[in-house]
Amino acid sequence: MDNAGPQLLTQSDELRKRALRRTPGGVHSNVRLSGSQDFIKCARGAWLYSVDGQDYVDYLLGQGPNFLGHAPKHIVDAVFTACRDGVIFGGQHELEVRAAELVCDAVGWADMIRFSMTGTEAVQAALRLARAATGRTKIIRFEGHYHGWLDNVLMSQRDGKWGTASSGQLARHLEDSILLPWNDAARLADALDEHGDEVAAVIMEPIMINAGVIEPLPGYLEAARRLASEYGAVLIFDEVISGFRLGLGGGAGRYGVTPDLATYGKAIAGGFPVAALVGRADLMDRFGTGEVNHSGTFNSSVMATAAVTATLTSLVEDPPYDRIAEHGNALMAGLREIGAAHEVPLRVSGLPQAFHVSFGDAKVTDYRSLQQLDLARYETLASSLVEHGIWVTGRGVWYVSASHGQRELETALTRFDKALTEWV
Ligand code: PLP
Repeated sequence: MDNAGPQLLTQSDELRKRALRRTPGGVHSNVRLSGSQDFIKCARGAWLYSVDGQDYVDYLLGQGPNFLGHAPKHIVDAVFTACRDGVIFGGQHELEVRAAELVCDAVGWADMIRFSMTGTEAVQAALRLARAATGRTKIIRFEGHYHGWLDNVLMSQRDGKWGTASSGQLARHLEDSILLPWNDAARLADALDEHGDEVAAVIMEPIMINAGVIEPLPGYLEAARRLASEYGAVLIFDEVISGFRLGLGGGAGRYGVTPDLATYGKAIAGGFPVAALVGRADLMDRFGTGEVNHSGTFNSSVMATAAVTATLTSLVEDPPYDRIAEHGNALMAGLREIGAAHEVPLRVSGLPQAFHVSFGDAKVTDYRSLQQLDLARYETLASSLVEHGIWVTGRGVWYVSASHGQRELETALTRFDKALTEWV
């Protein structure tokens, strides 16, 4: 006979029960269907606090946007102050001019910008613009690179074959995509040789953070740049994750290769929902003449542009990059040490601002080689890490913010060690 009394529901359980009645899966983004189902009460700096009193050192950063930590006072204050005089005008305002100037100046090579709400939209604007400018239809893109959730870009691999990733997604919307392994300049050259006069754009994350945080091989981005120019295709860097995170110039700045267009999001606005497409004036002007449509009721709202202005001002005046690198490097080294002490083949690789944790020792240069790692094993560890107070997901990507310091480092490493002790 089972003597256990009735299980008490936590506040998270209660909220989840309510959420499930009104919200499919209890979440508003399918990305959150997996991962912790704890409800968050509030967040400050590098910490999340659940409704049940658990604290977490946060290395997910809201999937990346909280690059300056949670609720950075100067940004939240700037947004509140600006919004007191109106939130959305259906007309132009000074803050959007300032935000545009700040982003273009920070990026360095970009002449012009259009703001949108999400990275997904910015990517769509980039693809449409590239097709308009070239009069071509095909897009070259790469295995493992994520460019948003819409029909013409969402892909996943099943039984070794790439295709649609969602029921209801029309396969024909992917017909104009040529999917290649990334970091292989010869394959890109061959594809352009075969389809060059049909290719409007080559789009890639300049560093593949979404899947495995894999850096471009030396010379790869340069080759992509040269080939795109040679075949008259528009080179698009999707910097939605890398932008402002790797430095003011993002991936383009870090690797010294300039695209024709680039998309930004996440770290651009201190956690507020903002994305942007930036690029060369001769391309971007097509929006201005009305030839190419890019629209959005909420684009460049007061909230968005106040958040961008405050974020960029702070990144320029008080660059957090050295601090973040210091924390990230110490954290990566600490995780490796703990893994070694537990005699597990923990693999920690990438950059201090964003790195990947998994199991295995394969040499990883693209999505295919990433699959040789034991990604499923890490997923089980990730659940245990959350239980021990480290907020990460099973995808293995850890983000470091400007508000992670010594206390967070020590707490995270102690908790990681404990989680590994109990899990191994
Ligand atoms: N591009 C990249 C590289 C991303 O990582 C993401 C989101 O994670 C997107 C585009 C889509 O951005 P959003 O989720 O804001 O639509």
